[in-house]
Amino acid sequence: MKDLFKHNKPLHSIIRETAEVAGYLWQRGWAERNAGNISINISEIVDIEIIDYSPFPFLDLPFSYPKLADSSFLVTGTGKRMRDFANSPMNNGIVIKVNQSANGYWILSQKAGSSSFLPTSELSTHLGIHQLIAERGSPEKVVLHAHTTELIALTHAEEFCNQDSLNNLLWGMHPETIVFVPKGVGFVPYMLPGSVEIAMETIKALQNHDVALWEKHGVFAIGNCVHETFDVIDILAKSARIYFMCQSANILPRGLTASQLSDLKL
Ligand SMILES: [Zn+2]
Repeated sequence: MKDLFKHNKPLHSIIRETAEVAGYLWQRGWAERNAGNISINISEIVDIEIIDYSPFPFLDLPFSYPKLADSSFLVTGTGKRMRDFANSPMNNGIVIKVNQSANGYWILSQKAGSSSFLPTSELSTHLGIHQLIAERGSPEKVVLHAHTTELIALTHAEEFCNQDSLNNLLWGMHPETIVFVPKGVGFVPYMLPGSVEIAMETIKALQNHDVALWEKHGVFAIGNCVHETFDVIDILAKSARIYFMCQSANILPRGLTASQLSDLKL
């Protein structure tokens, strides 16, 4: 059995990039306490050569994810802080491999019987989104959940608790937003976090959007790499900040016009 971390440059570089982004999430105030979680499908990037899985802890999944059979993921740990992940990623994150039946997984970064921790409590939502990505054959590898203050604040206004007004506002505040977040935000009404219902609604929202925004809670974003995924959230938050800054200065923001927006779409 090859040591997972020994001479594995691609794995080390994904861990380093994820740690950088975890630090940004903490610095932005989008990951208080143990808030936020990240999963990255590393199956095609990282060479994981294991013949005997018996030394690793095995856990069942509550659902089957057939498209994720034999896939591997880097996942942040349950109860772990983003600021700690930034400093010591593999004491706060784990590498898992889904079994062939896609109804359970091994924790490859831990040894059976050793003191260990589990992946994020939102693992089902993450795997459901990765399954959606695999079903449609799109290239996204990263699923990132954060408590993005500026976007949460918007969902406390009833007028922005619908997709059209939310996207019109966010696209209208800054030209970059429609360019880099062309499919916009899918709105998910308030539901109990961690529930099957919210996972299903999030997956539905991500079928046609770049980001799912949970009312009064935060975002789930998908992207090809962890920096790009962070960028999408950052751009949306910037748009929301411009709106709030104008409001607090008693300026009614005019927003980009329809023709300015359609020029940007070209
Ligand atoms: Zn959350």
